[in-house]
Amino acid sequence: MKHFHFQALLQKEGWCENVYVGVDEAGLIANISTDQPSGDVQKVKGYVLPAFQNAHSHAFQYAMAGLAENFKRGVKDNFWAWRETMYQIALTISPDDLENIAAMLYSEMVRHGYSEVAEFHYLHHDKEGKPYDNLAEHAERLVSAAQKAGIKITLVPMFYQKGGFGQDPTERQRRFISKTKEDYGKLLQATRRVTEKHDCASLGFGIHSLRAVETDDIIKTYEEAPLNMPFHIHVSEQLKEIDDSLAYLGKRPVEWLLDHIQMDDRCHLVHATHLINAEVSRLARSKANVVLCPTTEGNLGDGIFRLRDYHHQGGKWSIGTDSHISLNPLEELRMLDYGQRLTSHERSTFLGDKSSSSSGYALSQFIFNGRKAMGRSSENYFEVGQPLDAVIYDANAPLLAASSPKNVLPTIIYSLDASYTVDTIVQGQFATDRAQMNRESIVKAFCKTIQQLGIR
Ligand code: ZN
Repeated sequence: MKHFHFQALLQKEGWCENVYVGVDEAGLIANISTDQPSGDVQKVKGYVLPAFQNAHSHAFQYAMAGLAENFKRGVKDNFWAWRETMYQIALTISPDDLENIAAMLYSEMVRHGYSEVAEFHYLHHDKEGKPYDNLAEHAERLVSAAQKAGIKITLVPMFYQKGGFGQDPTERQRRFISKTKEDYGKLLQATRRVTEKHDCASLGFGIHSLRAVETDDIIKTYEEAPLNMPFHIHVSEQLKEIDDSLAYLGKRPVEWLLDHIQMDDRCHLVHATHLINAEVSRLARSKANVVLCPTTEGNLGDGIFRLRDYHHQGGKWSIGTDSHISLNPLEELRMLDYGQRLTSHERSTFLGDKSSSSSGYALSQFIFNGRKAMGRSSENYFEVGQPLDAVIYDANAPLLAASSPKNVLPTIIYSLDASYTVDTIVQGQFATDRAQMNRESIVKAFCKTIQQLGIR
């Protein structure tokens, strides 16, 4: 058992000063107390928040962060044009490349305060589109990358069957495809064997999007899965997707899901950008979670989620970094809030919640629903029996040093830059300790991979 002394630890109720936390061999919290324990105590200075959950990631897309920003005059650039660049990269990377890119990405996530990531994984097969001898080859590589970087991973292998509503897959989608529900079942089983071998890994399941799988198979896949696994799906990100869904299914994507599957809090709908009133209300009532990816959605020009309406009806949401154009969790919250302020001409996006502050409310959604996206739940930020996952901010940052306790959290969320993130604790272990072991080799392997791919 080791003990930490925290200068200031954030719980749901507010800041707790001078707290001792005992952590067992597995990195789980054994006790939280203001009484000093006997034996060695590691002092942790700074303001300590629960570490963040990244509820939506496509690791390979990190290789192209910033690459789709040079536009040609006279050519319309939108999500579908960006997707072509993304496909080119998806078609060229090897298992080694994927591992090296993911290790770099995950290491950067930890540096920014994330302790967990849900990997929405659909790059399953080799470059020709044939399954690897080990069906879960890429899943193995992603877990290996997470281990090197010191982040916990929820692998969510995706069922991807079609090229669009009622359309066969295209050549460029060949690495993603499971032809049948049975093929996807085998992939899921193979991935389960990988996650069961590693303490840092857990398993979810999912459908890439309504356009990517036949409706009967969506329903059966959902109904036949164990009840304890989180379910992830992309939905209603693009207006074209809504039009195609209306033409093919006669319903909007979220409307169709609400009508055909029994949604509850294990469902994580990624984006849900374009909703009509009835969808907002029904989704909020269903207890499903929406995974918002504000910087990616902004980068792709998707649109703005109706957070204000959804929040006022009790809707739940978490945050993901999706294409990884940004990896700063605080930037995600700012972008999310400011999108609402800019369109509503009001500042109080989160007002109306029972929690004491709007920042406290935003953080609680990020953390508690983020944990659900990983397949676990908790009552408080730090509690006995749960892992010690924390992010530490520098109390000497001038604005924090000059702030009274009630202003600390809003100042961190709205004003602190990433340089004041001191360290991240994942499962009771400091990221900097691990970084000294692995960071150099992770950076080296990443740069070599990118150089060989010749894409940057
Ligand atoms: Zn995505």
